[in-house]
Amino acid sequence: MTGQANKKAAIPGWYAAGLEHIWLPYAQMKTVSPPLPVARTHGARIVLADGRELIDGIASWWTACHGYNHPHIKRAVEAQLVRMPHVMFGGLAHEQALTLAKRLTSLLPGDLTRVFFSDSGSVAVEVAMKMAVQYWINTGKPKKTKFIAFRHSYHGDTQGAMSVTDRAIGMHDVFGDAFSQNTVFDVGPGPAPDLGGIETLLARYGSEYAGIIIEPLVQGAGGMIFRSEKLLRLLRRLADDADQILIFDEIFTGFGRTGTMFAYEQAGVAPDIITLSKALTGGTLPLAATVATRNIFNAFWSDDPKKALMHGPTYMANALACAAANASLDLFEREPRMRQVADISVALDQGLASCRDLPLVKDVRVKGAVGVVELDRVNDLEGLRARFIEQGVFIRPIGNVIYLTPAFTISADELATLTGAIVKTVRELSQ
Ligand SMILES: *Cc1c(COP(=O)(O)O)cnc(C)c1O
Repeated sequence: MTGQANKKAAIPGWYAAGLEHIWLPYAQMKTVSPPLPVARTHGARIVLADGRELIDGIASWWTACHGYNHPHIKRAVEAQLVRMPHVMFGGLAHEQALTLAKRLTSLLPGDLTRVFFSDSGSVAVEVAMKMAVQYWINTGKPKKTKFIAFRHSYHGDTQGAMSVTDRAIGMHDVFGDAFSQNTVFDVGPGPAPDLGGIETLLARYGSEYAGIIIEPLVQGAGGMIFRSEKLLRLLRRLADDADQILIFDEIFTGFGRTGTMFAYEQAGVAPDIITLSKALTGGTLPLAATVATRNIFNAFWSDDPKKALMHGPTYMANALACAAANASLDLFEREPRMRQVADISVALDQGLASCRDLPLVKDVRVKGAVGVVELDRVNDLEGLRARFIEQGVFIRPIGNVIYLTPAFTISADELATLTGAIVKTVRELSQ
């Protein structure tokens, strides 16, 4: 009784006043559970307005790789805020952006040398698609405008990004054929992908296709589907043979999530264009980057103004966000992030293993700091989410896929609490 009363009293005024005026992401507003009022964060924890602490299993959509409120990022952003929060990137340049561009390209394969900054992953994908299409326009092949994408893909919510996202994952199916000039392929599960369909299509209609876009190794929002390294190698060869620009969308996988700094490293092949965002600023400020090879860039290098890339977000290369990204890269250099990812991987494997024998479980899989328990079905998704909150953990299944993508700095105990909550909850569901 007292608990209830306290909880009521702890609902902040701003929450009651503002809730009627916001539109939530991916939500049927009539039936969605109200969002939890958050007071603050620290480490791998979210502190609610009523004082409860949740251990975060998702790291705010995979962004907060160093945990929340890392003092090094905080100091870098504070210092930048005092000097200069933002200047437009047209006609002006600043230290944080140029330093970040230099550092990103030095982490990427030798050929990926030009960075275009934007403010969200979806826009980074739009820019990658525009670069690919205009590359062909500028080199005299203006009919190459379509893209090949993959079953379970998710590349964002803007129009171009939607057009290469698999409609079957359910996020954009309401739009029907409105954005479907591109082709989504099912190359089958498992280590021996079947590219026959793509080869046939490109043999016939290759002159209409600009490129191939894929999330390397792990397809994130489309259900945490794991893909083989071999698929990436086959796509690299196919792209070269069939005159296609290969785009790796590493917005989910980039910055250590799959066990290497970037997922493509495990396949030993490089893309022509890579998109980065999510963990780029360690989960602090919105920023994205589209990085292109010298070869792509050279197709835009001309005396002809029509050959320029016509894109320029207002907040492009925001100085605060670039300062946060530089500080985040410092942390990858100074702190043992990749060893932490390796340790998390082992702990996820062990912690989730006992789910394998439960009747409702279709698959348990782990790659780097991504742990997945896929169920046959989930009848009450909102109820499942609430059940996790009751146990003091923030875990948000995507449909029938329960997953963990924690901060790399999470403690062993906190991680054990997360995996324990999943095992317990799936056991309850299986009864
Ligand atoms: C999240 C995500 C995007 C879209 O990024 P936003 O910042 O939400 O626009 C694109 N691609 C992948 C692989 C993602 O995970």
